[in-house]
Amino acid sequence: MGAGVFRTRGQPAAVEAVRAMLLGGMPHALLLVGPSGVGKATLADDIAAGLLCRAEDPGDRPCRECRACRALEHGNHPDVHRLGPTGAGLVIPIGGRDERGVRDLVRDLSLLPVEGGARVAIVTDADRMTEDAQSAFLKTLEEPPAGTVLLLTATDEERLLPTIRSRCSRIRLGPVTRSEVERLLVEAGLADAPLAARLARLSAGRPGDAVAMARAPESLTIRGEVGRTLLDLASATRADRLRLGRDLLARAGEMAAGLRAASRSTAVADASSSARGTRGRRASARSAAPGATTDAGQATEPDADALPGATRVPAAERRAAALALVVIWRDVARDLAMVALGEPADVRQLDLLDDLDAAARRLPSTFAAAQLRRLDLAGERLEGNVSPELVVDALALGWAA
Ligand SMILES: [Zn+2]
Repeated sequence: MGAGVFRTRGQPAAVEAVRAMLLGGMPHALLLVGPSGVGKATLADDIAAGLLCRAEDPGDRPCRECRACRALEHGNHPDVHRLGPTGAGLVIPIGGRDERGVRDLVRDLSLLPVEGGARVAIVTDADRMTEDAQSAFLKTLEEPPAGTVLLLTATDEERLLPTIRSRCSRIRLGPVTRSEVERLLVEAGLADAPLAARLARLSAGRPGDAVAMARAPESLTIRGEVGRTLLDLASATRADRLRLGRDLLARAGEMAAGLRAASRSTAVADASSSARGTRGRRASARSAAPGATTDAGQATEPDADALPGATRVPAAERRAAALALVVIWRDVARDLAMVALGEPADVRQLDLLDDLDAAARRLPSTFAAAQLRRLDLAGERLEGNVSPELVVDALALGWAA
């Protein structure tokens, strides 16, 4: 066991694998795979630090004290090149024009290292690369410039071209235990013990999500409010369900924007932690590619069903709002199922327990399971070019006993 200081928490196997690679030789390309918010980006930063650290004893890297380590900590090491999805659309474009994308990264890597040592490229959420971007990246992956290590993170590696996957070594990260998430929040001074316990439960093993929620406390208020409304919604009239569904969509949009801002300001969170749901994002970067650069033009999209004014919000943000709503909705359905099964200790939203109890008594026992299937499908449809408002309308209409 080396003395190098890792920031990654609750991933002992992955950290052990990385320590061994740092001592025994790092592959040219490494893919870190796991759910959003579990610490893939943090581990990529740990690896970059381990590779660039100047500590004499390799076992002490990363030391977090040398000049290289400090430059990395401040995000300005000249030999670390980063690329990740931008905007609410969370897509990595081919780039080379106005948006930073794969071509810009490739160009950066064609220059000589500034410090003369190793060079690291970190592509977070590499599975959000468009197919064009992936093809452009492939050449660099096949023949990386000397001394360069490529670190990729991905939630859903199936979205990566097989030719990319086959050229990467792989490290998997899983959910972090609830107690570890609690400890991390308290030690970081982000929450007291009761709040840490609540956030750890809500985050379902994703410390990045827990940290983002702690930094955007209004997200908890919105979450509770949306959850309660959803539980009432199941016995509302059709017209009320439609109207309230749109209200909830707007609130979820506020929450998603707050969490995105909070995620950007934290090293722990993965960029996509605000819109999780791995099944929901299976529909591949392929479907996102054609529309990826035209989000700004979505104001002209024929969308008679949107509320007046709603069409002015960029499509990517409307989709992010709907995905955020589906995540909460899924948690409500899941918690309902837990209560119906007589397992209230497994409920994620403990503050909703009374409402969940009442709803579970009102609703048929098969309700939650059927709704979970519909919510998974809705998540998948949101990845395509379907109007987010229509997906939410359909969910609200179907959310009835
Ligand atoms: Zn160091």
